[in-house]
Amino acid sequence: MDGKGKKTRSVCPVCGGALPAGRKDMRFCSVRCKSRWHYLREGRARVFRRKLLGTLERNYRILDALLAEGTTSMTIPDLAQAGYDFSCITSYHKVGNRNEYRCFDIKYYQSGSRIFHLERVVPISLSSGLPPSD
Ligand SMILES: [Zn+2]
Repeated sequence: MDGKGKKTRSVCPVCGGALPAGRKDMRFCSVRCKSRWHYLREGRARVFRRKLLGTLERNYRILDALLAEGTTSMTIPDLAQAGYDFSCITSYHKVGNRNEYRCFDIKYYQSGSRIFHLERVVPISLSSGLPPSD
């Protein structure tokens, strides 16, 4: 706080209640309203991003496990049963008459009933200095 205080509010922007008298540094009437303000402004977007990233991570782990066991094709119900969320991918391309989906560096084609040609697009580079995962 630099104490400029050009904008002085007389009421709490969350609940409309009066701010404590003589406390021009306070924007909110209470800690509860301050928390609520930040939740409303940033919280929902952050929660949304976190859930989306979590779903992408789960999808990736499922596809990665399939590749590890040599599986390159699976029915959509079986993949859904495994917890895969088809609405959560990192990219989609129309390739000829095929629908190509990607989850990070793993891609597959999808027909009405199954995914197929599951494969890794780019070999994982070890030049980043990350230790091998296994
Ligand atoms: Zn308030």
